[in-house]
Amino acid sequence: MADPVVPEYRGARRRLIETLQSKGIKDLSVLRAFELTPRHLFVQSGSLHRAYEDSPLPISEGQTISQPSVHARYLELLGLTGHERVLEVGTGSGYQTVLLSHLAAQVFSIERIPGLLATAREAIRSCGCRNVSLLLGDGTIGWREYAPFDAILVSAAAPDVPRPLLEQLADGGRLIIPLGGRTEQTLTLITRSGDDYKRRDIVPVRFVPLLGTHGWSTS
Ligand code: SAM
Repeated sequence: MADPVVPEYRGARRRLIETLQSKGIKDLSVLRAFELTPRHLFVQSGSLHRAYEDSPLPISEGQTISQPSVHARYLELLGLTGHERVLEVGTGSGYQTVLLSHLAAQVFSIERIPGLLATAREAIRSCGCRNVSLLLGDGTIGWREYAPFDAILVSAAAPDVPRPLLEQLADGGRLIIPLGGRTEQTLTLITRSGDDYKRRDIVPVRFVPLLGTHGWSTS
């Protein structure tokens, strides 16, 4: 993978990692992924000065790049070892996709908005990732062709877990999804053991809605 570290942002990225550590993120492989991923390539030009703040920021099409500490929490909960096949629903800017590419063997990511996916594809390409596949479509139906997935991350909020995602989760796999209403949700971790799916509520969160066949209606 190409070295994406640009010197002028190195100090800012270091401070972000210290912030993540101060917020309880301990997993060294997760912290290393943040060190290797240039967030300034994934934000709009008007937000460049805030690229390494621990804040969500606007991207195009009324969407947001999530807060880094929320990404870090997601990634720690997945406990990836580098060998996994991971599905991400909601590519958005592509930032989390690149974080994942440092932590898993293969990353499959689905986005429903064409313009966002095109911008994300370019930013991901400039990071030199070789283990990422992108799809334009409705992530609530998953990506059956490459299932089962050892981990599934849903980056938008749903009223309930889309059934196809439960079906496409490998035995022993973990799925993370914000569940609840349109404006406030609970980050939920689901672990599959055969036909048993254990649910654990993690923390209150606010995500944009997951729109699609097994999510919120688009109308
Ligand atoms: N993790 C992303 C990042 O690092 O930039 C931010 C994701 S943003 C909070 C949520 C994304 O989910 C939006 O880009 C939105 O278009 C997308 N989305 C919503 N419903 C979707 C669906 N059914 N399939 C795929 N993407 C969806």
